[in-house]
Amino acid sequence: MPVEPQRTPSRIARSHGGAYVHLPFCPYVCPYCDFAKWPLRRSSATRYLEALHAEIASAPAFEARTLFFGGGTPNTYDAATLAELVRALAARFSPDGFAETTVEMNPDPELCTPATFAAYRAAGIDRVSFGVQSFVESELATLGRRHAPGDVGRAFAIARDAGIDNLSLDLIFGIPGQTVESWDASLAAALALEPAHVSTYGLTIEDGTPFAEWFARTPGAFATNDLEAELYAHGIDTLVRAGFEHYEISNFARPGRRCAHNANYWANGEYVGLGVGAASYLAGVRSTHVRELDAYVDAALAGGPIPGESERLEGAARLGEAAMLGLRTAEGVDIAAFAERYGVDFHDFYRPVLTEMRAMGTIDATSSHVRLTRRGRFVANDVCGAFVGFAG
Ligand code: SF4
Repeated sequence: MPVEPQRTPSRIARSHGGAYVHLPFCPYVCPYCDFAKWPLRRSSATRYLEALHAEIASAPAFEARTLFFGGGTPNTYDAATLAELVRALAARFSPDGFAETTVEMNPDPELCTPATFAAYRAAGIDRVSFGVQSFVESELATLGRRHAPGDVGRAFAIARDAGIDNLSLDLIFGIPGQTVESWDASLAAALALEPAHVSTYGLTIEDGTPFAEWFARTPGAFATNDLEAELYAHGIDTLVRAGFEHYEISNFARPGRRCAHNANYWANGEYVGLGVGAASYLAGVRSTHVRELDAYVDAALAGGPIPGESERLEGAARLGEAAMLGLRTAEGVDIAAFAERYGVDFHDFYRPVLTEMRAMGTIDATSSHVRLTRRGRFVANDVCGAFVGFAG
């Protein structure tokens, strides 16, 4: 089924939930990555798959309209395996089929074959998000990525030949050695492929990664805050000029091509997460599965429960979460919808925060919506943090 035409996140919140499945194996491990991922070992991957099917079979009753396979590198599993997972997940969460099914893919040629995309299409997978990161060879080498810039265009062509045209790609800015010119070259190469959707992420230095050690030794190798802001601004201007909507802090879409699955997160909608490290938000409780592979697999194969953390979001914490998520979007917080859903007047409750943020020029508040300004998008974590931390 095709993705429905663009809707505002607040409408999506009332209409559907999402299912997320974490497939944590990668053909190699990138030195900046802090995701729950492990280098591919066939025996572990097979056992993990059994655990996942066991978790799906015993998952709580829940209705999902969108499905998202993230990782890791989901396409380390063959297409038939993913197709079987889609069938099992649909049977459990969406008997009429998902309205949007996304797979994150690494564009390495051996993982992106015509047979792969044909099988995806047959299984109902209608959206692919490629982890491209850069179109500059030296930057890919710095990031430890093994695909070549040309692999991306090849993967796009094969996917389109198979009938999958809802294609997204991720790019990273702030890579050591990156300049405005090389970032511009990556953006131009991305636009030449005419993707439906682009995500741009600033490089973050995550504790415990090889990049964190490199940063500790040689901080001057990394982009300054000023350069990172310049790169972010250049990305926004370039993509918006090319006709993309900047619909969330890091995300840009052609009209009608927003990611419905992620829009549900930003609308504070419910979702079920399956797999190691996966997060769920159901009936007001946010929970996260343990990030240790064996602990997850053993618990799932034993019939659960899966160890992890959970927290019931109530009171100011619940409001702060909703405010933070809404502010990430272009539409911002819909004041009437917020009052209807949470029984709270946003302007009254957050008056001190709004006064401070307006004075700083980071928030634009009208009687109907509260949004980040362009300036606010550059310091979004601080602005959103002020709402999350406000106790009333
Ligand atoms: S391919 Fe993605 S998930 Fe895997 S190590 Fe690299 S960045 Fe992390």
